[in-house]
Formats: sequence, structure tokens, C-alpha cells
Amino acid sequence: MKGSGLTPDPVILATVLSACSRTGNLCFGQAIHSYIAETNLQIDGRLLTALITMYSNCGSMETAKKLYDGLSPKNPAASTAMVFGYAKLNQIELARSVFDSMADKDLVAWSAMISGYAESDRPAEALKLFNEMQLSNVRPDKITMLSVISACANLGALDQAHWVHTYVSNNGFNRVLSVNNALIDMFSKCGSLTIARKIFNEMPERNVITWTAMITGLAMHGEGTTAIALFDQMKLEGVRPNKVTFIGLLYACSHSGLVEEGQRVFESMSVDFGLEPEQQHCGCMVDLFGRAKLFKEAIDLINSMPFQPNVVVWGSLLSACRLHGEVELGELAAKRILEMDPGHDGAYVLLSNIYAKAGRWRDVGEVRRSMRSQAVWKERGCSWIGLDGEVHEFLMAEELHPRSKEIYEKLDEMVKKLEDAGYSPHIGSVLVDLEEEEKRRAVLLHSEKLALSFGLISTGKGASIRIAKNLRVCEDCHSFMKLASKVFEREIIVRDRTRFHHYRNGVCSCGDFW
Ligand code: ZN
Ligand code: ZN
Repeated sequence: MKGSGLTPDPVILATVLSACSRTGNLCFGQAIHSYIAETNLQIDGRLLTALITMYSNCGSMETAKKLYDGLSPKNPAASTAMVFGYAKLNQIELARSVFDSMADKDLVAWSAMISGYAESDRPAEALKLFNEMQLSNVRPDKITMLSVISACANLGALDQAHWVHTYVSNNGFNRVLSVNNALIDMFSKCGSLTIARKIFNEMPERNVITWTAMITGLAMHGEGTTAIALFDQMKLEGVRPNKVTFIGLLYACSHSGLVEEGQRVFESMSVDFGLEPEQQHCGCMVDLFGRAKLFKEAIDLINSMPFQPNVVVWGSLLSACRLHGEVELGELAAKRILEMDPGHDGAYVLLSNIYAKAGRWRDVGEVRRSMRSQAVWKERGCSWIGLDGEVHEFLMAEELHPRSKEIYEKLDEMVKKLEDAGYSPHIGSVLVDLEEEEKRRAVLLHSEKLALSFGLISTGKGASIRIAKNLRVCEDCHSFMKLASKVFEREIIVRDRTRFHHYRNGVCSCGDFW
């Protein structure tokens, strides 16, 4: 158009900017911006909004902010673009301050802010904002609902999940395929396979994502045999599995110790479906072999992989070495991980557990020293319980909860009762340099124990207690929960970083392999 001698007007430029924004083409967008400046074109509100949107979408928030500051009056489109841009870069507080300054917020603005929270690991805020949105009479659409469901899944709180489910049904979203798929994932992650399965069974239409979500849900709960059966049914119905389906399946086999089934599934992947295994699939297989103590098979697989094994693959081997007290292989795996990722906290922790188990205290000290010199810090443990529509959060050794005093009293009482039943704190799980007594105290203050204590004082006799946790459950908490389920006659369901533990009458559904 420029070549034909015609001069583009602001409307055309805004349209081209919107194309740049949608494709994330910052270079072209900047060129248009320069063109506008060179030709001394009058920049009206619409053109300025297009520029702000382009810069925010392309992640250039500094430039976007400068232009936004010069926009007067502000309009919802420009403000929403700012919210969206900040949220995408995880600058969630900045997103919120723009959002709060908006006089009239439409659905797009609410949605941008809610998904911002959901995707930056602040699920509780996402749900809270969804409630506020309803109070201001804005009706959600499919996109908003998907963010809300995903937030709820991350939170792992069953109460909220039920509430969201009811909302979905009452507002006609239960006919949307993607919403139902997300619901299956949410209920699996919130600890209710029964409801996930019910939704699955009642869906009028299912796609590969539906089947994969259900298989992965079963895997998370250690229901390997059912997952395989569902896979067979999926094939019978003519639905073609994809790579994600196979991750779920292999994961199911490794979490249930189904070695032969796992091998069959792994082979069938390339032979029957022409899908080449990737890192995650190999990681699952190494995990499967490792748990079953088949170290030779694990190493053979690693050596035969057509690509360099990554941190996940070595990590699976390292966990298996910790489980079976395999020192030398564990050292090798940890070394490979630390070569690739020198700040990998998990590798240090597992390696030092392996040394501690073998009584090699000098090596334990060595690991601690290198952690300190690398400034590696373990992510702080955090657990949640959802109760009567509210989420209670507990950080390790923290006393911020309004009922803190009662929680700590109950914890002391629990420890006494459990010690009478044969429990003694496993201080090998503590990595910091502390005196014996302090180590004992530290391990007793892990966030899930605080959450359990709160669960016991705030729910009725015999009620199940559901806890979600950000890290992997440590050995001490695992035996603590098992015993507590028996002594206090409660079913305790804990979702950790990777899986579910259903503690009932002194045993855990994971069979102590996790
Ligand atoms: Zn613990
Ligand atoms: Zn367990």
C-alpha cells in the first residue's frame, strides 16, 4: 500500500498494529510506531490504545507503561491490555494495581486478572476474584471458567471443587467439552476419583484429552490396573492416544509397580502408534525399573536413549537409589544432574539422604557445604486445607494462623499419642546444621503436620482430612500420617507435588513407594 503512494490513516495503522499484537511481532510493531513518529501523524486515543496493546502483548511493558501513562482518559481496552501484559510476565501486583484502577471492568478485564492469578500459582486469589466478579454481576464465559477450574485444581481443595462444579452445571457450562475435560482433571487433583469418573462416564462426547485426563487421574491415585483397562477401552472405541496419554499410562504403571505392563505400553507406543518416546516417557520407565530394583534395565534404557538424558531421567534414577540405598549409582545420577543444573535442590537432598542412610556422615556434611556455597535453598514447605469455603495455608514452623495456639497444643498432644504407638521422629530428613533436639523440633513442624493438627481440631469425629502440599512428602511426615490415620481413626488424603497418598488405618495407598 505504501508503495502505491497512498498514505495509511490511523484506522489502517491501528489494524496493522493489532495484527502485530496477535502474532507477537514486536519488530514490525516498532517499525509502525517509528513510521507514526516520522510522519508526524496525530495519535488519537484509538491509535494509542493499539500501540499499548501491541507492546503489552509482546512483553515490552516499560514502553507500554510510558504510553499508557500518557493516555487520557484511560479506556477499558488499554487497561485490560496492561493487566494482561503484566500478568503474562508474572508481575501480578502491577497487573492488580491497573485492574483496581479501572472504573468499569468488563468480562475481558476480569478474565485477564483471574487467569493471571491462576497461572502464577496464586489459585486462592483467582477464586476470590471470581467471587467478586459475580458480586458485580458480570457473567463468566468458557475462558473464565477454564481459569477458575484450573485454579481450583491447583489448590486441591475439594470443597471449592464441588462449588465450582455446581456453578458449572447451573450455568450451562456442563455441555462444553473442554470444561468437562478440565473438571475431570480438577476432581482427580482434588482427591475425588469417584466424581471424576462420574463426569467422564456421563459425558455425551469425549476426545483424546478426555481419556488422557481420566487415565492421568487414575495414575495419580495409584490405580494402575484401572488405567490400563481404560486405555484398552479407549482403543476399542477408536480414539487414537497421543504422547501425553502415554505419559499418563507409564506414570500409572510406575506408581503401581506394574513392570511388565509398563514395558508393553512403552513398546506399543512406537510399534503400534508410531510415537517416538521422549524424555518424560523414558523418565517414567527409569522410575518403573528403579522402584522394582531393576537397576540394570534402568541403566540399559538410559544408555540406549537416542538423546541425552535430562534432569528428569537422572532424577528418577536418583530417587530409586535413595529408596533402595544404592550409593554408587546414586552418586553418579546426582553428579549428572548437578552438571546440568548446579542449583538443583532435589538432587542435593536425595544425595544426602542416600549418604545418611548408608551412615556416611562425612559425605552428608560435604553435600551440605556445597549446598551452602552454591546458595541452594530448599523451597519452603507449604500445605493447604480447604474448609467451609475457605482455604487455610500453613508454612513450616509458622504461627500466623488465628488458631495457632490450639494448633500447636494439638500437635504436642498428637506427637505424644503417636510416640506411645511407636513413632519416633526421623531426623535424617532435616538437612540444616542443628542440634539433635532442634532437628526433632524442625521435623515436627513440617507444614503438613500443622495442617493435620488444624484438620483434627476443626472437623468432626471421623471426617476425612484433605491436605495439599507444594513439595514431596518427606519420610517422617509419611510415617507420621500413616500412624495418625490409625490412632485418630481418620482417613487422611495428602496430595504432594506428584501424587496422592490415601492414609487409612495405618497404611498408605502408595505402598510406601513415592
Ligand atoms: Zn515432612
Ligand atoms: Zn504414601
